[in-house]
Amino acid sequence: MTEKEKKRYKEMMEDIRHHEYLYYVLDAPELSDAAYDERYRALQAFEREHPDEIAADSPTQRVGGAVKDGFRSYHHPIPLQSLANAFSLEDLQAFDQSLRKEIPASRIRYSVEFKIDGLSIALYYHDGKLQTAATRGDGNDGEDVTSNVRTIRSIPLSIEYAGDVSVRGEIYMPKKAFEHLNAERDALGEPLFANPRNAAAGSLRQLDPQITAKRSLDGIFYTVMNDESCGLDSQDSAIDFIRSLHLPPIKNMICSSIEEAYAYCMMWKDKRQELPYEIDGMVIKLTDLTLQKQLGMRAKSPRWAIAFKFPPEQKTTKLYDITLQIGRTGVATPVGELEPVFVAGSTIRRATLHNRAFIEEKDIRIGDIVVVQKAGDVIPEIDHVVTEKRSQDLKPYVFPMVCPECGSDLVQVEGEAAIRCMNALACPSQVRAKIVHFASKDAMDIVGLGPEIVNQLYSTGLVKELPDLYRLNMKALLTLERFADAKAMNLLNAIEASKSAEFYRFLYGLGIPLVGLETSKILARHFSNLDALMAADVAALQEIDQIGALIAREIVGFFSNVHNKEQIKVLSELGINMASSVEERTSPQTVIGKTFVLTGTLPTYSRDEAKAMIEEHGGKVTGSVSKKTSYVVAGEKPGSKYEKAINLNIPVITEEALLALLKGE
Ligand code: ZN
Repeated sequence: MTEKEKKRYKEMMEDIRHHEYLYYVLDAPELSDAAYDERYRALQAFEREHPDEIAADSPTQRVGGAVKDGFRSYHHPIPLQSLANAFSLEDLQAFDQSLRKEIPASRIRYSVEFKIDGLSIALYYHDGKLQTAATRGDGNDGEDVTSNVRTIRSIPLSIEYAGDVSVRGEIYMPKKAFEHLNAERDALGEPLFANPRNAAAGSLRQLDPQITAKRSLDGIFYTVMNDESCGLDSQDSAIDFIRSLHLPPIKNMICSSIEEAYAYCMMWKDKRQELPYEIDGMVIKLTDLTLQKQLGMRAKSPRWAIAFKFPPEQKTTKLYDITLQIGRTGVATPVGELEPVFVAGSTIRRATLHNRAFIEEKDIRIGDIVVVQKAGDVIPEIDHVVTEKRSQDLKPYVFPMVCPECGSDLVQVEGEAAIRCMNALACPSQVRAKIVHFASKDAMDIVGLGPEIVNQLYSTGLVKELPDLYRLNMKALLTLERFADAKAMNLLNAIEASKSAEFYRFLYGLGIPLVGLETSKILARHFSNLDALMAADVAALQEIDQIGALIAREIVGFFSNVHNKEQIKVLSELGINMASSVEERTSPQTVIGKTFVLTGTLPTYSRDEAKAMIEEHGGKVTGSVSKKTSYVVAGEKPGSKYEKAINLNIPVITEEALLALLKGE
């Protein structure tokens, strides 16, 4: 590039950045989309003529190549702390009192901000360039997700500031984008995200930034971590500073008393639906940054701030019926059928009533007006009945004693709380539930084959038993309602791929009573194929470590059943893998003799999965931290085990470090 071209290039980039800022941060575009696209394409054309001199922070360079071996761990120079929680005015007043003991009341002013329900993130800029974006992780070590954060258009790749700036904020998915994404996934038969937070996390943790770029993520920033070196003295000045860097800043309100702060929180509790993103509370912090430093930290959280958590959103609706759902093992679970009501981001139509005792205890009657909420913001549940609104003619609920699906008697098995339909082979519900289990993520992992699709396949007669899955074809699927080419093709591909799934998945998918995921893995390690397993008797099975008499008897019983044997034979003829690979049989014993404790939510694996992996590699997992613990594996929101580990000086590691350890690295 000539000097003149360099100048031109810089101007073109500045121009696009300016318009990105107007559009994505201020939401006040000056150009039409077409005019913007034209300038963007001109920049791309210019870069094509100078392919060796493209600037890394050019607006065209947001989407890079895929990360190959997962995300690298990133150590935060300043830890990302988590906040203590408050749930009531009393909690807030106690917090206020604790501050008044140490600083003059006249200096107490609070900055009250939205607590956005997203993913905590830290951005590190050096000499104006975005160097690293890392998730919070355990606060000390997070994951380097820079390549994905670069795709978020409201986050500038370069800022006008010499030196170092690190800011903390939240990556979230706007409600609209979330609804759109789920509608799209539904059309393709892909599993839906439970809430915008999960969708944001799933999108940010994609190894391929191309996918992240399509997910309409956004960010909001609220803390300058190196405030001193940036010359900031109050939370207001920090927010202004964030705004001056052209990053999207959090909205805040200054309150001079805790009661005023509380009133502001309560106002947003009721008005939060109006916001374009989900918030699960408000953050209240001392405005004065010098005072913040003076107060410092408690064991895990700063003393100068607190999170006010909203109670779960509750709505009132009518319970118009109670139906029974018959599970895979015949257990009858009562389900409340509700008049549809929109709660915390999605429409609720049904809520589990768990069992007979739950209904009796809450005296839930058909026709009642009930208050519903989401447990853990995901699972709908009935909190209580509004008895004042009950009409007098409503009678206590009588638990049916006949299976609604097959007409068999329901039986209360001795020593069990559950009521069951014993017609295991021919009860349609049980057959459907078995297929759903067979296709589930931990089993054959057939994406797109959830309960609704299985119902559809079963009721239309396309799939009456497991082997029928492998006889499905395009022509048959396209006769079904809501099945377009793409959805049918995806499903067929997923079914085909499952034929070569690992042996343990098949074993787990069979749904042998008492044989869970972990036992399935143990069996797959011991027996090189299904014939060998089927030939084993109770005594032989019991010789295996961790297989007791009960499990052994269930296994032998399952494989001696004529119907089961027949189905397995057919599945084998259809080409399903029933042998374990060398890798499955031999896991290197890399952590033999080591004891692990798991705490918090791990980024990729569930606790059960992590436990199984540790055990496969010779380690042990226990529930509490002691001097004998070798490692504590901490995910997001670790509990008291984390603090205990720190006190006892036990190494705390991330999921990524655990995986490296298991691999023997
Ligand atoms: Zn039944």
